Amino acid sequence: MQRDTVFDLIGVGFGPSNLALAVRLAEQEQQGEAPLTHCFIERQLEFGWHRGMLLDDCRMQISFLKDLATLRDPKSRFTFINYLFERGRLADFVNLKNFFPTRVEFHDYLRWVASSFDERVHYGERVAAIEPVMAAGGSSQINALRVHSADEAGREWHRVTRALSLGLGGAPHVPEMFASLGEAGIVHSSNYLHSIDRLAGAPTDDKRRRVAVIGSGQSAAEVFTDLTRRFEHVDATLVMRAGALKPADDSPFVNEIFSPAFTDVFYGQPRERRDALLADFRDTNYAVVDRPLIEQIYEMLYLQRIEGEARHRLCAHSVIEAAQRTAGGQIELTMRDTLSGRRSAERFDALVLATGYRRDPHRTLLAGLAQHLGDALAAHEVGRDYRLSTPAHFKPRIYLQGCCEDSHGLSDTLLSVLARRSDEIATALREGHTRARGERTNRMDQTTQTTQIAQTKNNGVGDGRMAVAL
Ligand code: FAD
Repeated sequence: MQRDTVFDLIGVGFGPSNLALAVRLAEQEQQGEAPLTHCFIERQLEFGWHRGMLLDDCRMQISFLKDLATLRDPKSRFTFINYLFERGRLADFVNLKNFFPTRVEFHDYLRWVASSFDERVHYGERVAAIEPVMAAGGSSQINALRVHSADEAGREWHRVTRALSLGLGGAPHVPEMFASLGEAGIVHSSNYLHSIDRLAGAPTDDKRRRVAVIGSGQSAAEVFTDLTRRFEHVDATLVMRAGALKPADDSPFVNEIFSPAFTDVFYGQPRERRDALLADFRDTNYAVVDRPLIEQIYEMLYLQRIEGEARHRLCAHSVIEAAQRTAGGQIELTMRDTLSGRRSAERFDALVLATGYRRDPHRTLLAGLAQHLGDALAAHEVGRDYRLSTPAHFKPRIYLQGCCEDSHGLSDTLLSVLARRSDEIATALREGHTRARGERTNRMDQTTQTTQIAQTKNNGVGDGRMAVAL
């Protein structure tokens, strides 16, 4: 009988979440824990952290001490400080007197950590579906999951696992009115650096390019600023429903909600109070901008007035009611001013949608399991250990990372809790694995006894072999 290799864990996505888990599993093994067979599947061809927004001068929004390991174990070899040390920049970094490295440097740190796990990661494969593997012997019990992936050349892989860790990140949110226009001249901010040269076009003597950035959060502000600096021939307009760019609240008491310990507090609340907490602290992360960047934008717009040429604009209080393509290939936005109620139409050569991310890709990926999962997926029933609740006959464990804001708090989509969360998941995974192995051994013992009794009754007829696949 041909048997699949059965992994103890497959991680889908190899961004910071599953990278942190890889680190923790490696450390546990080094500390003498039994090895778990595991691998990760990542659709990018190599490690990359939001490469489409890796703008030269943008800084991290959390302290470098909230790296993949320090808050759990400052002595880990995977800390940001050890990265600096090994790269020979530790003393120089100290001279910067800054807790917030550039994103380019943090990306390099993450890539440095990821390079230790190259053998465990299947890059260049997109996981397309996950289906149940039923127990042998016609039982309705599901013992494992089959993970289907394919690379760009169309080659397919199928791997079987007893546990999954989904760290898929967000999917670009494209409002319907833009999605229906097709892709020409429109890019989501997640793809900004990969597309902007094409969108901005080559400079010509007689025609300036008009580019609108839609949104009022950090990405919108970063893209707007970048456009004004990158291209002489581009006039940038920032269109936003909000009345002003508002600063992110990163004051110390407020920042405590991003401490790993706050996850317990948040998780312990009833649903209404969790919702209230999310609403109360929303301005730490959503539709807000780092204060220094707001000040830079204000000053840039102010300086334009001295020069007397207002090339770049900020259109606040503006709701986009419609978007359509013109015969000349431009995009016309119909905007309503929420203060005056007045409508106006403006034409742009290109749009950058800084409209945020959906946190539901895990639902699409798990759709093939929906009939076996009961209400757990729809109702987002997730344990404190990030494990999706599953019915008794569904044995594989599914851990969710980055899509548990509703249950685990605002830090869930960010980097702040990674050092702790990876430990919580790795520990839960081991406990679950040990328990499941015990159950399997019990089942095998019972089956062996039954088989022996049956063989005795049959006067020894039969070879006593069993097809206990999992
Ligand atoms: P991601 O980093 O999004 O990684 C998910 C990975 O899964 C990706 O590599 C993707 O290619 C892969 N993947 C998805 N689907 C599949 C599939 N079907 N098959 C195979 N692979 C798949 N947070 C902070 O705390 N501080 C910051 O300073 C900060 N800066 C940010 C800047 C930007 C521009 C953005 C967009 C976000 C930022 N964030 C920041 C939030 C961000 O969510 C986290 O930094 C972090 O990326 C979360 O890691 P993750 O692994 O959960 O998700």
